[in-house]
Amino acid sequence: MLPIEQNRSLKPLTTFKIGGAAREFAEIVDPADVPAAFDYAEERGLATLVLGGGSNMLVSDRGFDGLVIHVSNRGIAPSPLTPLPTTWGEGYKNSNSPRPTQWGEGPGVRGIRIASGEMWDDVVKFAVEHELWGIENLSRIPGRTGAVAVQNVGAYGQEIKDVLVNVEVFDRKTNSFQTLTNEECEFTYRKSIFNTREKNRYVILSTTLQLSTVPKRNLSYPDVKKWFEGNPEPSLEEIRAAIKAIRDRKFPFPAESIEGNAGSFFKNSLLTIEQFENVKRQFERNLPERLDRLLRYAPSTLYPLPSTLKIPSAFVLEACGLKGFRRGNVQLNPTQPVVVLNVTGNATADEVLTLVREVRTTVQEKTGLHLYTEPELIGFTADELRGYGFNREEIRRYTA
Ligand SMILES: Cc1cc2nc3c(=O)[nH]c(=O)nc-3n(C[C@H](O)[C@H](O)[C@H](O)COP(=O)(O)OP(=O)(O)OC[C@H]3O[C@@H](n4cnc5c(N)ncnc54)[C@H](O)[C@@H]3O)c2cc1C
Repeated sequence: MLPIEQNRSLKPLTTFKIGGAAREFAEIVDPADVPAAFDYAEERGLATLVLGGGSNMLVSDRGFDGLVIHVSNRGIAPSPLTPLPTTWGEGYKNSNSPRPTQWGEGPGVRGIRIASGEMWDDVVKFAVEHELWGIENLSRIPGRTGAVAVQNVGAYGQEIKDVLVNVEVFDRKTNSFQTLTNEECEFTYRKSIFNTREKNRYVILSTTLQLSTVPKRNLSYPDVKKWFEGNPEPSLEEIRAAIKAIRDRKFPFPAESIEGNAGSFFKNSLLTIEQFENVKRQFERNLPERLDRLLRYAPSTLYPLPSTLKIPSAFVLEACGLKGFRRGNVQLNPTQPVVVLNVTGNATADEVLTLVREVRTTVQEKTGLHLYTEPELIGFTADELRGYGFNREEIRRYTA
């Protein structure tokens, strides 16, 4: 019998520290219980939401009118890189277990299989402590491991797609447990099948990564490069410490602050050359003093130009004078404006989306850019989203 709670507040389960209650709530420790949770919802005609660490979502002030499935299985274990038979409850070890002896395949290659309920940063710590390279630049990203594949988590030049071998899932469509390979996840920038065409179909239960005992330093990101000037071969521990320090300079880690946030609220813009030319014209007209900086994102030294150019939203927001922009309890972070802060800890979802509407309108007017939003928006109706300025494509995404 599944333990189901009624009317569980979601506010403390999200890093934004915003949102109403879930009508029903199931804490799933054993993945074998996942099908029963969906059966329970179906029998009662309830919508479902899979929740991890709540660090990439904004929950409506009314909450979620359905069943929240909180995936909380635990364990990090060595793994061969070919799929294991799905035998839930066996083979996992606690993160504090001694150094594993049975590792992946091939010289220098090590596989680890991580249950979805493990905090992601504990996994990075585990890898660093075991001298395994490949995810150190992804230090200090909040949330649980079950979600890292969902938006192809990335930071400081590393993305999960570069080390992910496969994910074990429960497939709601076929009512079966399956393993999906890296290719089947169809990773691109902040996207996978899990947040696009197969949204809500799969529950990710474990993630297998291929790490390396051979150093594979990625110090290319400007802040990291600068940090290690004069130290071209830093250790894994040094890189993790640097990433944590660099991140802490930019925005508060929600678990340690009264300020809530969901990380980057605005995605960077990926533009075709033609779209870039339009933005350039808008800058010439409205923001001529920032044109030089814009052109750095399409360097004339690059020939042929890449098919897409990435324009950081942090730059765009700053250029539009929106760094630190505040309305009531909500503010664009003064040090990294892509992060929307619940400054007082008392903000409502309505306040957040009202500020987001104002910000996106200003950006559109000044630059012609439509800034897409990154976190999932939970429990909002299509009409509400339209009122907050979301377009048809976005409404489809958030109400799927
Ligand atoms: C301070 C801060 C910094 C951040 N920095 C970064 C960063 O540098 N790079 C980056 O990419 N992200 C970043 N994020 C965003 C976020 O931390 C990641 O996207 C994280 O992987 C979300 O994990 P979660 O467990 O909190 O997911 P949740 O917020 O609980 O869920 C996010 C989405 O994934 C789905 N989901 C969750 N678990 C599962 C599962 N087991 N199976 C299927 N679907 C599931 C949910 O339904 C939801 O749609 C940051 C967030 C914060 C607050």
